[in-house]
Amino acid sequence: MTWPPIRKAPQDRAAANLKDYEAEVADFSWAAARAELQGLPQGGLNIAHEALDRHVQAGRGAQLALRWIGRDDTVRDFTYAELTIQANRFANLLLSLGVSRGDRVYSLLGRTPELYFAALGALKAGAVFTPLFSAFGPEPIRARMEIGQANVLVTSETLYHRKVESWRGEMTSLRQVLLVDCSGEAPAGTLALEPALARADPDFATAQTAPEDMALLHFTSGTTGRPKGAVHVHEAVVAHHVTGRNALDLRPGDIYWCTADPGWVTGTSYGIISPLTNGVSLIVDEAEFDAERWRSILQAQSVTVWYTAPTAIRMLMKVWAQDRRPYEVPALRFMASVGEPLNPEAVVWGVEAFGRPFHDNWWQTETGGIMIANFAAMDIKPGSMGRPLPGVTAGIVERLPDGLVREVDKPMALGELALRPGWPSIMRGYLHEEERFRKCFVGGWYLSGDLAMRDSDGYYWFVGRADDVIKSAGHLIGPFEVESVLMEHAAVAEAAVIGLPDPISGEVVKAYVALKPGLVGDEALRRELLGHARKRLGAAVAPKDIAFRQNLPKTRSGKIMRRLLKARELGLPEGDLSTLESEER
Ligand code: ATP
Ligand code: MG
Repeated sequence: MTWPPIRKAPQDRAAANLKDYEAEVADFSWAAARAELQGLPQGGLNIAHEALDRHVQAGRGAQLALRWIGRDDTVRDFTYAELTIQANRFANLLLSLGVSRGDRVYSLLGRTPELYFAALGALKAGAVFTPLFSAFGPEPIRARMEIGQANVLVTSETLYHRKVESWRGEMTSLRQVLLVDCSGEAPAGTLALEPALARADPDFATAQTAPEDMALLHFTSGTTGRPKGAVHVHEAVVAHHVTGRNALDLRPGDIYWCTADPGWVTGTSYGIISPLTNGVSLIVDEAEFDAERWRSILQAQSVTVWYTAPTAIRMLMKVWAQDRRPYEVPALRFMASVGEPLNPEAVVWGVEAFGRPFHDNWWQTETGGIMIANFAAMDIKPGSMGRPLPGVTAGIVERLPDGLVREVDKPMALGELALRPGWPSIMRGYLHEEERFRKCFVGGWYLSGDLAMRDSDGYYWFVGRADDVIKSAGHLIGPFEVESVLMEHAAVAEAAVIGLPDPISGEVVKAYVALKPGLVGDEALRRELLGHARKRLGAAVAPKDIAFRQNLPKTRSGKIMRRLLKARELGLPEGDLSTLESEER
């Protein structure tokens, strides 16, 4: 570990929500966390009630809940009371369309206010909400709607014509399509959403959902293969709430910007639910990533807590290589990252550019909420994902030949990252994939499929996905370590490392590198990077070959698709590409 720890100042520790990690871990119980929420008047639990109604009933209705910034910089503000009314109208509309408890409501929308009304309204109505990325093509949309047997789709007129209309008639479960932004009369078999909402009753008694009722169906990112549909229930809100406070340091009144699209789980758990249950004001930007725009949002909106992802951070670093204007963000208190390993370089860059480090945290669609995190009051070891949240028991396990697992206790021993089931937001199943779901649980552990190590201070270090780990001449090589070393080089903007079959070593390491703007990947630079990696990692672990790429293939949620680089290199089938982002960027 070459990166020195980033120490937290005593005043920052004292101000943090979670001040004393060990004490909090010892004291924590999920029952106590549940008691912080209100629950429904006649028992039961509903995510939207905790996110909206509870605040309004407690007299906090006038507080800003959502500030939406349109592509053209139009701003629309919604207080907690106003957002509740919109969600109520949406819930009433669903009821008037015959939607009943457990029915599936899908959204296929850009980040528009209606997406937020639909998510919260569907939950209020006791329906199951599934958000899809608006950039998905027709096939991935159709496949996901078929898996979940969608009953209602909320989309825009443009997206409907382009992506849904041609096959809609074949989907018998789909009873109603609601369209945002209808230019004139709604197309046959659809309903214009805005006028229907305006007509709907603004009062609604939230459905009496039980904690174990299904609330959300989320598809995984598709980084390792065909996406799975993870089932989540209303009780997940207990985890959303308390992890937002502990891991993201959310406090009532914060101005919070989660840059993730609700098309994947972060944009819902921490882009809608957790911030609202914690009484913060959400910033939502409709536009796609743009370094200058992001700078201006952080500054002009006085964002206090910012939750983003490694890909975005690396893109900002790329711009920084040419424009080192420091960010003027005195209001910003806490910055966090999720989705992919965050290179130590990027953590430390946070201090240079923003005056504070990024706090990496780890979780999955399946876990429903943050499981391992760098906390506000804790020193950061750059490159580590942090420590398990209070209420979460993590371990490093090895799989044994008899199909069982054994925990490995030795510091920095490599194994699979595993969690003891029992936290409220754990998935309740992969829809229609019972066997696959069952295989995730062995010997009282939930097995994550990620490899990691734990040091003697209890910090976890991501090594790679089990599928991506490289076995070369008797060494187990984690792609993340090699990628991070390449990232240390001033010319490198992004790196991805894979193993290629080799008759002598079993596998050899190959790296793909995208360079910072204006640099040319020539033979001299290739040799320099190979030399740098050999010096830092030793010949056994360093890449044997480096290829330059303009961009690396990524999922829509911003994850590098190493499996695709490998398939292309070996001339193998490319597999499920439904979540692949266009590689133009
Ligand atoms: P699929 O399961 O369909 O292949 P996916 O695993 O990428 O896709 P998600 O649930 O969106 O789908 O992502 C969870 C995964 O993302 C984790 O299992 C881990 O591999 C990676 N990840 C998330 N956060 C971190 C982090 N902080 N450090 C390292 N890896 C992370
Ligand atoms: Mg996964």
